[in-house]
Amino acid sequence: MLRRFRLRGEDAVRGSLVLTRRDSAASPDLWPVNAYGVADTTAICPSQPLVQELVIEECRRAAASYSWASLELVALGFAGPRGDFFESICFCSACRYGYGAVDGILETVARERVEHPSLNTMLLWRRSVQYGLLQQIREAVGVPLWLRTAASLRYTGDMSSLTFEEARGLVDACTVSGGDVERLAALPRPMPIYGVGMPEHEMFAGHIVAEAE
Ligand SMILES: [Zn+2]
Repeated sequence: MLRRFRLRGEDAVRGSLVLTRRDSAASPDLWPVNAYGVADTTAICPSQPLVQELVIEECRRAAASYSWASLELVALGFAGPRGDFFESICFCSACRYGYGAVDGILETVARERVEHPSLNTMLLWRRSVQYGLLQQIREAVGVPLWLRTAASLRYTGDMSSLTFEEARGLVDACTVSGGDVERLAALPRPMPIYGVGMPEHEMFAGHIVAEAE
């Protein structure tokens, strides 16, 4: 889904593209699958090579469709219904391959919803998937990119869990649409950060993003 928006007080038209959160009824092979084998039909799993190809192509097309001042990438990450962390741990074949030796224990951990060191292995791998995909999009797209992120290790839903630091060099700005502003404000910010529908705060780069069709 491609939307357009402007910054308050600015005329430039910016684009915003939702990547992995969508009605994916036509592509059941691409659904994320939870620890009970139940698919999430409202998303596609970013670790799958076909999903990455699809997303990169959509970014390429969206970027070329208008002279955007920038293109924001939304939902570059692992979804999980209702933002539930344990539900977001995907067991599609590509994710299982990525988990390697901790695959089996992770399945138990996700079912029992308990803390375990295997979660750290999973989260690190997840970030490498998001980083790799962002890198490929950067190479494929000529317009300035913005990233919607929560800058929080476990974040699920419509935001990436890459930090501002990790996104440095790949995107020109980050947007945040929720979370603890004080915690985010304490993080290093190597680029402008914009708030989407959040209270004005000194950490945001002087503007609130107003989304519009
Ligand atoms: Zn998966």
